[in-house]
Amino acid sequence: MEDFVAIDDARTIPIEEYLGTIPSEGYRRAETSGLTDFALFFLDLMARNFRVSIEVPPVFVRTTSRVGAEVNPLGFIVVTAGMINHCLDAKWPQAYEILGNKAPAVVGENLVARLGMAWVVGHEFTHMFHFHHEVERRLGNKKSVQRAFEHDADLCATAGIFRLLQHMFGQVMSDTDIRRYASFVLFWIIRSIPDNNNGAGIHPSFSERFFHISLKLAILQENSSEIPDPNARHPRTIARIDAILEAAVACEHAYQQRNGFSGGSYFTEWRKYLSVNGHTSITRDWSKVSPWVQWLSGNQVDMPTSILDQRKIVLEERRAKKLKRKKQSLARVKNRPR
Ligand SMILES: [Zn+2]
Repeated sequence: MEDFVAIDDARTIPIEEYLGTIPSEGYRRAETSGLTDFALFFLDLMARNFRVSIEVPPVFVRTTSRVGAEVNPLGFIVVTAGMINHCLDAKWPQAYEILGNKAPAVVGENLVARLGMAWVVGHEFTHMFHFHHEVERRLGNKKSVQRAFEHDADLCATAGIFRLLQHMFGQVMSDTDIRRYASFVLFWIIRSIPDNNNGAGIHPSFSERFFHISLKLAILQENSSEIPDPNARHPRTIARIDAILEAAVACEHAYQQRNGFSGGSYFTEWRKYLSVNGHTSITRDWSKVSPWVQWLSGNQVDMPTSILDQRKIVLEERRAKKLKRKKQSLARVKNRPR
């Protein structure tokens, strides 16, 4: 998420202290407390799911209206009051309006806000347990490296949200419907984060981020018995992509109806993005960084084979075949009766 520069008089304080600053009348304090409790619970769940090698970090709040989150070098996560308020106040339609009657019927009114905040802290936690700061020391502070970190953090947080939703709704919803609901939740929280849509700096544009989040939601294994399909070749994965994109497009339609078309049309942007191979360039950045992440964190890092790697494989196969033919023809020459 956006790093912020401490030039205002904002303070970084523990959650409890922050809650004390919210007027106790009305629901706001209880809502905020529910949101932060859920975020802390999510970090524990992620730590177990990813078998992380570090302690679950504490979360602090920075008292600024700017919408952001970051990892503090001292080893804790900071979310801004602006980010908390963004999650609580983001306006989303009811899930059934977008996803039909397959959406979870038991949704508490704040579930989207809570899952959104969980995703935000999960993103920051990934920067920590995948040792991105250590990788940066080795590879340098290049834009491509930074973008790869953001990509990794987005996708791990997304995987965490999917596992949480499986845990919550696995008994009552189909696997595909859970994936569609995850897409719905993340859409409404990430779509409206300020300064998220221009692709400037290290953060990819919303369009790019959401494209990869959707792809991740499709390739995540339902359970450990499912054969991994990181390159989305299996018909089951392709069917999931269709179902998730349909949900995403319905969300974008609803968003544009509410907000007008000034935010741009993501359907055409996605097409443009695919046509200039934008989706492979960030994957290529990630494939350069991921071996370091895997080595430092001890985590198995799943990723699609990048186009470069695929080309390398094809070239190696060709070279091997050529070598084999050469050997065979040499053997024939040798064995020819004289
Ligand atoms: Zn980040």
